[in-house]
Amino acid sequence: MTLPADHDEAQPSPLRQVAASPDDFRLVRFLYADHGGVIRGKSVAREFLPERLASGIGHTVAMMAMSMLDSLQPVAGMGPVGEVRIKPDQDTLVALPYAPGAGAMVADLVQQDGTPWAACARTFLKQAIAELASQGYAMSAAFEPEFTLGSRVADPEGGPDRLVPADDSLCYSGTGFLQAHDYVMELVDALNDQGLRVEHYYPELGHGQQEVSIRHAPALRAADNHLLYRETVRGVALRRGQWASLAPKPIQDQAGNGAHLHMSLTELVDGESAGPPAFADPTDRYGLSATGYHFIGGLLAHLPALLALTAGSVNSYRRLQPQFWSSAYTVYGMDNREAAVRICSALHGDASSSVNLELKPSDSSANPYLALGAAIYAGLDGIRLKLDPGPAVNVDPATLDVAQRADVGARRLPESLGAALDALQADPLLMDALGSLRSTAYLAVKRSEIAAFAEHDAAWECFQHFIRF
Ligand code: GLU
Ligand code: MG
Repeated sequence: MTLPADHDEAQPSPLRQVAASPDDFRLVRFLYADHGGVIRGKSVAREFLPERLASGIGHTVAMMAMSMLDSLQPVAGMGPVGEVRIKPDQDTLVALPYAPGAGAMVADLVQQDGTPWAACARTFLKQAIAELASQGYAMSAAFEPEFTLGSRVADPEGGPDRLVPADDSLCYSGTGFLQAHDYVMELVDALNDQGLRVEHYYPELGHGQQEVSIRHAPALRAADNHLLYRETVRGVALRRGQWASLAPKPIQDQAGNGAHLHMSLTELVDGESAGPPAFADPTDRYGLSATGYHFIGGLLAHLPALLALTAGSVNSYRRLQPQFWSSAYTVYGMDNREAAVRICSALHGDASSSVNLELKPSDSSANPYLALGAAIYAGLDGIRLKLDPGPAVNVDPATLDVAQRADVGARRLPESLGAALDALQADPLLMDALGSLRSTAYLAVKRSEIAAFAEHDAAWECFQHFIRF
């Protein structure tokens, strides 16, 4: 995936423009992502849509203290008393091709007077984007999600349901294309009809594993796109009697599902329109500017803490193993698929192509707004402090010995969600950026998930994740 010099992503997709009018729907969902990484929402009937567009739908504050197991955590300010509003962003209205008669909008959680709520994840990303703008930059981003297509099958032994993959095809293989074709064509249409701009599709390494990538977009839109994408991948499968999961490791002995985060910056001109790419320098041997190296320096410096937000579930750490191309060490490299941060080469002959950075330890069990917002804060810290990321590592870091790894500054990434949360709590930059209410609730929710999964085996963990993500 490459990011452009021509900023075509700033233009709304024509598909999105014609996508939907409120009159088309009997119900419109207002969707948001919670601290468990789960997408939730409420819907309103057409008759009352105009009122709810203005007011939002009432919602208990407690839902941001709810875990991915629907276990409510004790967080001050998120108890049974108190209301916020699920307030939709009207620019995001789409018809849901997999839910006839229904539309959806992505929503913020706001206070009753309409001002931002301190625990709204989408607001966190908006804050990060504003912080970036105050330093003269705008971000283009894309999530590059993988998922497993299959069916949900009861275990004859009475254990948790299993995800049985739809095929046993090889990576990028012709057989893989053939076996997933009908589902994939329906998915591609459904994504394009919502204005998500499908860019590539191919069957990937694991059984049933698919990758459908979406064109980069301004950061907020990229996260909104990923929310709609997750819903669509699962919605299209459900209507076909299949099951699709974006969980990081839905099947223990198969390749994991990443959602690598691609990012590039452009300079803001007059504080508004996007100017030249800020990561490109044709004179550098990897084509990356000093700003790009500093951004990597920030990502690597904060990486153990950042993981708590980009790889946000217990299941995430089953994926992040050496030599699975998901990354396991704090290194960056040129087109290195074992590096946590990959400098992606520009496509020769594609005028819109430009160098971009890919963060690999990121998956779809994360809240996309927290993940991208935190990556922005980390990278921006690197720019402000002009952090040197050290040497590029252009070999698989797992093949280096201990001394060699120490020489290039390669540290093993946190090996559990608990270790990543510890790193987050010890990272003042990210904790300050999150703010007290959001960080308290996030930590409580995630710590509760760790405790719950510690009581069960891997099969139960995979089950709980593949039915939700
Ligand atoms: N499935 C790998 C992951 O977990 C990524 C493979 C690839 O490079 O596409 O991140
Ligand atoms: Mg892939």
